Amino acid sequence: MADNDTDPDRQGGFFADLLAPVAGFGVSFSTIFRKVDTEQYPEDKRPTPPRWHGRHQLNRHPDGLEKCIGCELCAWACPADAIYVEGADNDDRPIAAGGTGRYSPGERYGSVYQINYLRCILCGFCIEACPTRALTMTNLYEMADDNRADLIYEKHQLIAPLSEGMVAAPHPMVEGMQERDYYQGKVTTATPEQRQYAEQREEGGPAHDRHR
Ligand code: SF4
Ligand code: SF4
Repeated sequence: MADNDTDPDRQGGFFADLLAPVAGFGVSFSTIFRKVDTEQYPEDKRPTPPRWHGRHQLNRHPDGLEKCIGCELCAWACPADAIYVEGADNDDRPIAAGGTGRYSPGERYGSVYQINYLRCILCGFCIEACPTRALTMTNLYEMADDNRADLIYEKHQLIAPLSEGMVAAPHPMVEGMQERDYYQGKVTTATPEQRQYAEQREEGGPAHDRHR
């Protein structure tokens, strides 16, 4: 142990030694007179930065079809193993023939999609891995809950709400359009044929909505 009288770091002189015991209070006293910066949350919610990493969202094309193709790349990219995806084939058979419908352009769609927010660290690796920009992050951060099960978000909680011009999947692609046309921005809204299909599906009952 170093001797206080010989330790060069402790040699401050008579007045320094005298004031040393009260020097620490300087920080306390200076803080007392500072303006208090208390957040009035939840009454007063501050807007987050624009690129905030908040709750995820599964996006749609402008006609309402889903952008997720069930490829699972997001799940593979996740360092916390927080994402679970099951893909399925789109079914173009008519409703009357037992067809379950089309949820995305192309071959496959995400039939099961879960994010476990007990594991997720909101790093954003998953949205970087997504090849279709189906998965993005929102500015929502209020996800606290009182049980574990409710913090596993299912597809129906993550899918984007319908905007103007969209019709909820399943329904066919816009007539004459290929999958790539969707990514080239050639589809801008749902067509009357797609709306008609959706109405028929509604009449067909909830069996056709089993993946929602
Ligand atoms: S934000 Fe990060 S931790 Fe959360 S699901 Fe995506 S990759 Fe996983
Ligand atoms: S969200 Fe993107 S990466 Fe994940 S399964 Fe869907 S298309 Fe693939």
